Amino acid sequence: MRDGWIICPVCGKGKILKVRSDTIARNLPRKCKRCGQETLVNIEAPEPASKETSA
Ligand SMILES: [Zn+2]
Repeated sequence: MRDGWIICPVCGKGKILKVRSDTIARNLPRKCKRCGQETLVNIEAPEPASKETSA
């Protein structure tokens, strides 16, 4: 993932989904416009930024 775009794993060039840092998706089918292959997108919940917690 880079520049906020999920890149098609099949052709490695097509942008199939725009994501934000807080986007979460599970088994979201997206079709690549470039190669036409459908890919299931999985976006894990982002790891919490290194916040300092005074525990
Ligand atoms: Zn593709």
